[in-house]
Amino acid sequence: MSRILVVEDESAIAELIAINMRHAGYEVTVAANSEQAQAAVDGVLPDLVVLDWMLPGQSGLALAKGWRAQARTRELPIIMLTARAEEGDKISGLDAGADDYLTKPFSTSELLARIRAVLRRKAPEALDTLVEIGGLQLDPATRRVSREEREVKVGPTEFRLLHFFMTHPERVHSRSQLLDRVWGDHVFIEERTVDVHIKRLREALDVVGCAGMIETVRGAGYRMTRQQQQQQQPRQPHRLAQADTAE
Ligand code: CA
Repeated sequence: MSRILVVEDESAIAELIAINMRHAGYEVTVAANSEQAQAAVDGVLPDLVVLDWMLPGQSGLALAKGWRAQARTRELPIIMLTARAEEGDKISGLDAGADDYLTKPFSTSELLARIRAVLRRKAPEALDTLVEIGGLQLDPATRRVSREEREVKVGPTEFRLLHFFMTHPERVHSRSQLLDRVWGDHVFIEERTVDVHIKRLREALDVVGCAGMIETVRGAGYRMTRQQQQQQQPRQPHRLAQADTAE
């Protein structure tokens, strides 16, 4: 179930949106201003934010810019709402990092359609598409992980973790980012939990020789790579010997 944060100070509009979203199966949180919105995002990262431009205090536009400048919230999908209908405003909204833009008054069915579209674009890991990296295959439809026909047995958390890694390869993810994206919670789970599941995932992948695909990046987090490090043999003296003969 996708979590949606609705930031709207007009309670009647906020309520109307929230009711329709919940009816469509989303989990909805409503914030009436920037401070409440920031507090909500600091707690649990939503899957998408419906953000009103005109808010008391800090504007929705400033809030969106702030989120885009932070690593944790950089990719947070945002649909901007506004009473303004001018082309210049639309461009400013999209420049500030909004993924889509809707002018009031709008129909809730249009908002729902836009939400679905943005979520589809932003969350390839939510799709049931088979992913493959370095011979390792993960099939969300059957929840199977395998390499060259050999099945890898992974628990549900390791499966989600691996799915996230495989759909976001070659990038370093901090523990708190992983908590947000895989566990969906930034606050109530200790970062050490991530290490425990990484260890289990590596053990599972070791069976098919893929444990090295999950790299620890010291001081930064974890990364999945298709070019896993070869078992570290003491090759240094050999290389030195070659260099010597070359000279
Ligand atoms: Ca407003």
